[in-house]
Amino acid sequence: MLRKLLFRLNVLPVLMAMTVMVSLSAAGAATVTGVRLGENGDITRLVLDLDNASSFRTFLLDDPPRVVIDFPPMDWRLLKTAGRQGRGVIAGFRFGVFDQGTSRMVLDLKRPARVAQAFILPPREGYGYRFVIDLKPVTQKEFSTLLRPQGGLPADLAATRPAAIKLPPVPVARPRHRLPVVVLDPGHGGIDPGASSLNGHREKDITLAIARNLARHLRATGRVKVVMTRNRDVFLKLRERVRIARRAGADLFISLHADTISRSSVRGASIYTLSETASDKEAAALAAKENKADVIAGVNLSGHSEDVAEILIDLAQREAMNASASFVSYLLPSMRRRGIKLLRKPHRSAGFRVLKAPDVASVLLELGYLSNRRDESRLLSRKGQSEIAAAITDAVLAYLEKQQAYNR
Ligand SMILES: [Zn+2]
Repeated sequence: MLRKLLFRLNVLPVLMAMTVMVSLSAAGAATVTGVRLGENGDITRLVLDLDNASSFRTFLLDDPPRVVIDFPPMDWRLLKTAGRQGRGVIAGFRFGVFDQGTSRMVLDLKRPARVAQAFILPPREGYGYRFVIDLKPVTQKEFSTLLRPQGGLPADLAATRPAAIKLPPVPVARPRHRLPVVVLDPGHGGIDPGASSLNGHREKDITLAIARNLARHLRATGRVKVVMTRNRDVFLKLRERVRIARRAGADLFISLHADTISRSSVRGASIYTLSETASDKEAAALAAKENKADVIAGVNLSGHSEDVAEILIDLAQREAMNASASFVSYLLPSMRRRGIKLLRKPHRSAGFRVLKAPDVASVLLELGYLSNRRDESRLLSRKGQSEIAAAITDAVLAYLEKQQAYNR
């Protein structure tokens, strides 16, 4: 198939522009119906079949090297497994909703490469519209010069030693006489599917279903206000999730996830809280995996403002860490009471980015393993989801009651 539209290398224009904006008039929302990869010499080509023309924009990201292609909202009718296997310089790719106005495709590169050319082909010779992108390997040095100017602090401020910057911590506004706010954070979403079960169920859908169920349980008590970081299949940066929690004046932040592991016999839930040093190797590896969500979605993680912010929030964080641990002390027995299987050492800690709201008690729940049949069916079943929701609800109420007694 690809050979048919193979291009003549000698006419490849040398396009140095790394950001290419192509606007076609009358471009409605397109449907993507196919994807192909091919190689010709040192050029790797990716082709998307579209039912309509579309505008697009490409740019490069580093650490690890990636090519990001942004389209207006598109309907991706590709196999779930598409993108698992790469070719040429492309190690693999992902696609999906990035935000309301953007559909994104992220190409993971085996080595640095630049966009040699990218264009939309009009229908011709039995083919419909096609989006074509050609990648050419470059040196790391060349790749670095092609990266888009980075955001973050101005150079002079970024160069300042963080310890020398003194800013007061920003307190979260918590008006009195109001219901405590519980923020639920369904993990992953949009372009970032999270883990996949044996039967192809995706973590992002499971976490959303359980969060909705939990929201219903919590609201039914009439004793808390519930805020969801997302209530649909959309990608959110990890920092954006934290920001939502702070803006809502959260008293408690609960991030919901499900993991996979190569040994399919392993099952059980675990609860994670934040710490700078991971409690064990597994916890560190898991944090690294969950923290990759932004990389998966093609978010630029460079820039220094984050480092500075982290220093500033450090102190406030300590208190929140104690509160988080206190919530875990309610959550564990509550889950056991509801017959939810837990890992042998169920409370662990590591540096999860999503738990870094400075003054909000935060936990990340790995609700079970999608690689285990029994865990998978529990996480997918209405009954299993309700058991989890009930266990968390009991713990939330008990925890908040104690906190309120303490603050009175
Ligand atoms: Zn996850």
